[in-house]
Amino acid sequence: MTQQLGNFLSGRWQTGEGTETQLTDPVSGEKLATVSARGLDLASALDFARVRGGENLRALDYATRAKLLDDVANVLIAKRARYEEIAIANSGNTKIDAAIDIDGGIGTLKYFAKVGAGLGETKSLLDQGPVHLAKDEKFQAIHLLVPRRGVAIHINAFNFPSWGLWEKAAVSLLAGVPVLSKPASSTAWLAYEMVRDVIDAKVLPEGALSLLCGSAGGLFSHVTADDVIAFTGSHDTALKIRGDRNVMTRNVAVNVEADSINAALLGPDAAPGSTAFDAFVKEVVREMTVKAGQKCTAIRRVFVPAERAAAMAEALSAKLSSMQVGDPRKAETRMGPLVNRSQQAAVFEGIAMLAAGAKTLTGGKGAPKIEGIDPKVSAFVAPTLLQAADGSASAVHDIEVFGPVATIVPYKNEAEAFTLVRRGGGSLVASVFGTDTDFLARAARELGYVHGRILAVDPSIASSHTGHGIVMPQCNHGGPGRAGNGEELGGLHGLRFYHQRVAVQGSAEVLSSLTKEATPIH
Ligand code: NAP
Repeated sequence: MTQQLGNFLSGRWQTGEGTETQLTDPVSGEKLATVSARGLDLASALDFARVRGGENLRALDYATRAKLLDDVANVLIAKRARYEEIAIANSGNTKIDAAIDIDGGIGTLKYFAKVGAGLGETKSLLDQGPVHLAKDEKFQAIHLLVPRRGVAIHINAFNFPSWGLWEKAAVSLLAGVPVLSKPASSTAWLAYEMVRDVIDAKVLPEGALSLLCGSAGGLFSHVTADDVIAFTGSHDTALKIRGDRNVMTRNVAVNVEADSINAALLGPDAAPGSTAFDAFVKEVVREMTVKAGQKCTAIRRVFVPAERAAAMAEALSAKLSSMQVGDPRKAETRMGPLVNRSQQAAVFEGIAMLAAGAKTLTGGKGAPKIEGIDPKVSAFVAPTLLQAADGSASAVHDIEVFGPVATIVPYKNEAEAFTLVRRGGGSLVASVFGTDTDFLARAARELGYVHGRILAVDPSIASSHTGHGIVMPQCNHGGPGRAGNGEELGGLHGLRFYHQRVAVQGSAEVLSSLTKEATPIH
């Protein structure tokens, strides 16, 4: 019998009825655990978090809550080895993949612990002011940010069970808003284990953190206008959540981080053999293969000047076709499997759609042959590079293939390159590589309005930048249009979603008593 992962709701561990989802090892097909939320009282769970968790967190100031984040991070650091084992078994992560997820989560907690400490012993934030509103200078206004008094429902995608949990929880807890976190069922084990350790360590006040490992069905009929929902996942699920009748009726704030067809653009001046060209090749390969391409930020479209397309195809194909794909438990493995067989089937379907308008240079549809691995139970996909003749086919700009798959798209000139990149319809991130810094700045201006983040790499930072796909807590994460139109992180800016911005108009005396107890965040 495999273990059933508990749900931590209303301050106690509870199991749902039966099995909703079976968690498996994507290398061996071994059954690892099950989850279920059937029969659980979600209305009471939300009430408990809202009332008990909310009161307990709001009794603390920002600096004290920041210290809680540090305590949580330290609990996780002490148990890290176990988390890595789970990430390898349940997600097919290599050690590097696991580090991005686990250390990314811990690093984000540490970051917000540090910047949160700087907010001091206050319980609200001063956004703006005071400003004069009338001839009588005593009548003024300020804008305060006050913590919301509901529960933050965090729904995460399968690819980052650790980072997704903590990047959201860190900001919410710092703001004083209790969290009910729901990992994707298929990889919930890591989130479960981490939350269990944090609860056992008693570092958070009662009600501050709840966990729902099973499905979220029915949860939204119990949300109130005080609650917020932060969702990460597919466009289709985002539509369902935004379209939920109760969510719409009560105008519940919803932040969406959805899918994205991210671009990497090589500038016209980056000749083969140049630092910019080599750095670009390295980054595209890394983005395609880290976490087997299962990153919302991964590079999907590779834009190169038409005259460089052949050299780029050759350089990328050489690295991708020699990539060691296999069991992540083996030291020589550079890329592991996808998370499960349904993702593998979806990726093969996506490759077929892309291949209708592009030629396949390496990899492709069909499980790769790997010694000692049974293709009937495992979920491997070979690194797959395609090349379009030009940017006219729509599939490459429209279909997110969530695996180690990217397409080279040649462009004729700068204007065409910018137009083609924008066809992604709103993305999380684009990176631009080149030697001409004016071109890089122009690209950031021209592409900025359809992106949440732009990485501009000239040779001076070719080996020091943090990478196209890595989300830094200091920077905005989110993107307009199909990327969901959400915003997360971005330093203290991320706190806004968990606060109400209120204009207070009054006398200088009243406002000064408020501002004395609020930390300016500009
Ligand atoms: P998904 O199928 O949309 O699932 C995401 C989450 O939503 C899971 O926790 C899932 O729970 C839950 N869910 C599913 N149906 C729901 C419903 N009707 N009501 C409430 N919750 C529901 O996405 P995924 O397959 O896990 O993740 C892959 C997608 O996420 C890709 O498109 C990727 O681009 C995107 N993503 C975006 C970001 C970003 O930051 N922008 C980051 C990572 C991934 P169950 O597992 O229990 O069904």
